[in-house]
Amino acid sequence: MLPMIVPNPSLASLTESASDALERFSGCTPTWFAAAPGRVNLIGEHTDYNAGWALPIAIDRYTVLAAAPSGETGQLRVHSLALEEERVLSWEALDTPHPTAWMRYLQGVIVQYRRKGIECPALDIVVASSVPLGAGLSSSAALELAMAHLLESVTGQSLSSAARIEASIEAERQTAGVPCGVMDQTVVESAHPEHALLLDCADNTFIPVPFHQADVALLVIHSGISHSLAQSAYAQRRDECERGARALGVSTLREVCLSDLPALDDELLRRRAHHVVSENARVQRSVAALQRGDWDTLGTLMVDSHTSLRDDYAVSCDELDVLVELAVVEAGVYGARLTGGGFGGCVIVLIDTERLEAVAESIGRQYAERVGWAPLCYRIQSAAGANELCAAL
Ligand code: ADP
Ligand code: MG
Repeated sequence: MLPMIVPNPSLASLTESASDALERFSGCTPTWFAAAPGRVNLIGEHTDYNAGWALPIAIDRYTVLAAAPSGETGQLRVHSLALEEERVLSWEALDTPHPTAWMRYLQGVIVQYRRKGIECPALDIVVASSVPLGAGLSSSAALELAMAHLLESVTGQSLSSAARIEASIEAERQTAGVPCGVMDQTVVESAHPEHALLLDCADNTFIPVPFHQADVALLVIHSGISHSLAQSAYAQRRDECERGARALGVSTLREVCLSDLPALDDELLRRRAHHVVSENARVQRSVAALQRGDWDTLGTLMVDSHTSLRDDYAVSCDELDVLVELAVVEAGVYGARLTGGGFGGCVIVLIDTERLEAVAESIGRQYAERVGWAPLCYRIQSAAGANELCAAL
């Protein structure tokens, strides 16, 4: 039987891999390191662009950069171990998006720092990552924030954490061309271990909420479906939410309560708004449940969130529904829901720690029978954000 849970290399061994690879790649030992974690959202999905609330954690999977001064001038030479690709970004081409999509995340950060008067010198960089790419665990924000911290170490100039977050968001929006919200970069930079962040997306402020994981574990299961529809549907949902808010005479759906919804004549817009309004309420109730260690309630809220995303917001897919359906009937599972934008990617399962392996095995086997391939399972623990992490490197 194949192991169901994907091994998780320690941060130290990831750093060592990056270091060894840099020596092979550029002949130099690293002068600088930077790292940033991925993230998973416990609850509060598709609320961020509605100025609502979300409750993400940073996770113990990381993107590590090892860097050394380059022998060449005027360029960045990058090797990604995950993609087994090597690319060059020349400063002369800084103003047009790099032909290779993944380089744009690094380029975007360099462009944003340059606007603040912080110039990147010529570097050789190796990227090592245990955050799966494109799985909804925010490998993109991990890459951006790791690059932001690297730039600051290299130049000896530092920005505030808030400015770093903003530079990373703008890098993703302007250079990578992804119209992202604010959640990913904020939690990847600012999280604390054993805490979730209650994120108020109206002004990007947050409150750490203790999340003691002694008795419960989080399992993230990748459906094996990549979200090809996600980008177009994301823009469509944003538009539907804006239209709903306009029809109700408010600037965002944050200002709406359930009792306002019957005033929306359009049924589709009413369902979209119903998800956003009810999801915001679920986030607030989840915070109270986390604080009490009330896993039954948190699990129920997660399942309700999934139902709302599936029925009202229409961003689930059969495979994600199957995973949630299989998870919730297992002994020791409190709840499960799709996490991330939807249309594929992952579900997150809240589970008794001692049942973790048995449940992963059981869901994995039944999913493979139903869908035709085995899903990848990741055990996830809350971790420090890049700000705390890089201060300790
Ligand atoms: P997610 O952030 O959920 O992982 P995205 O589609 O937002 O998914 O970002 C994934 C993209 O980020 C990858 O396709 C790649 O372009 C870039 N990326 C992230 N991590 C790495 C890495 N270690 N090496 C190269 N590119 C990466
Ligand atoms: Mg991303």
